[in-house]
Amino acid sequence: MNQFLSRRIFILIPTMSILKFIFKPMNALASSFTSKEEWNLSKEEWKNRLTPESYYILREEGTERAFSSQLNNEKRKGIFHCAGCDFPLFSSDTKYDSGTGWPSFWDSILGSIETKRDFKLIVPRTEYHCSRCGGHQGHVFNDGPQPTGKRYCNNGLALKFKPD
Ligand SMILES: [Zn+2]
Repeated sequence: MNQFLSRRIFILIPTMSILKFIFKPMNALASSFTSKEEWNLSKEEWKNRLTPESYYILREEGTERAFSSQLNNEKRKGIFHCAGCDFPLFSSDTKYDSGTGWPSFWDSILGSIETKRDFKLIVPRTEYHCSRCGGHQGHVFNDGPQPTGKRYCNNGLALKFKPD
């Protein structure tokens, strides 16, 4: 190995560990805080409001097991609300069977969600969360059906379905 290359590696490794420290708190902040003051609850307040499973998804950006949610097979007309704050996020009109094992939608209700980049699996993904309480919902991909081409891959535990 030539000298130039080994010097580059010496610089690269410490730089990467510094980046990890910077990105980790940023990821944690995004779903913990919200601009809506009344929904800026403490960890304890969220734990009291939610089941441990929903807390893990909504407040710690967890992911439920594929095919574990009953909402996968929910085919009635209605609205899917945030399980954290009850904000309406998706309409049944945009729900479809993606075959992935998670409730999937090709569009969200206008203004209901916000997105951020997520590097948890190293490859960047687009995380999205409820725009009111900041609760993590899932990830959005560009392999969905028309007319949007989007696939909102949502945790069932982060949603509450209200039939019409
Ligand atoms: Zn919410």
